[in-house]
Amino acid sequence: MFGWLQAHQRRQILEHPFPESWNAILERNVAHWKFLDDAEHVQLRSLVQVFVAEKQWEGCGGLALTDEIRVTIAGLACLLVLGLDHTLYSNVKTILVYPATVIAPGQRSALSSGITIQGPRIPIDGQSILRGPVVLVWDAVLRGAVHPERGHNVVYHEFAHKLDMLDGCVDGTPPLAEPGQYERWIKVCTREYDELRRRASKGKRTFLDAYGGTNPGEFFAVITEYFFDKPLQMKRHHPELYSLLHEFYRQDPAAREARHAPRHPDSGNADH
Ligand SMILES: [Zn+2]
Repeated sequence: MFGWLQAHQRRQILEHPFPESWNAILERNVAHWKFLDDAEHVQLRSLVQVFVAEKQWEGCGGLALTDEIRVTIAGLACLLVLGLDHTLYSNVKTILVYPATVIAPGQRSALSSGITIQGPRIPIDGQSILRGPVVLVWDAVLRGAVHPERGHNVVYHEFAHKLDMLDGCVDGTPPLAEPGQYERWIKVCTREYDELRRRASKGKRTFLDAYGGTNPGEFFAVITEYFFDKPLQMKRHHPELYSLLHEFYRQDPAAREARHAPRHPDSGNADH
């Protein structure tokens, strides 16, 4: 019954024309928007419209929510699922948005002596809570949205966690379309994750952010950021990992960017 009701409600949402001002927000704030073709624009607009309407949005810390905030976050989150069979993040009911970096309380740990200690307070730009909301910081969202060259996008990161959580745990492996995909996924991710940790522990330079070596869940969130932010470079530095995400997301951001990037007359490379 709920599926029919939801389908009916979504049809009603989509009967409203897509606001022209929202197009301008997507063009201005979602860097990957310019690489999408007309059919993908149509599809992403529909997802954004439903996502903005269905999720509960809460401005926190004095932030007054605007269309720009909602549409930018929706555009980035929905880009991830453009090629997937998805439920538009059925595990996300609420999105909390703060104006600037949030200081999360440190973790409480109980010592064997019975004393409880409070760990250090940690500044965060976003957080995905298992069976809970997504927390985002607007200035970090906007910074990542318009500067893909940084390879950090807190919306891609947190919503990748939410895809990972669809099977009930954060282990770096979201539900895959085919049972046969798991073996290769685990093999490639384990090798690349171990290599990232090994290089980072020796102080060597890494293409991927060393934060991805924190645990497999963070690894999947970090490689998702690079896949959509720096796809050409990622394909060159980590071809197998790129191919794995290409297969998972059923999108090829590197091909999209290559079609738009001006070609260097000497090298023929399009990813400078
Ligand atoms: Zn994370």
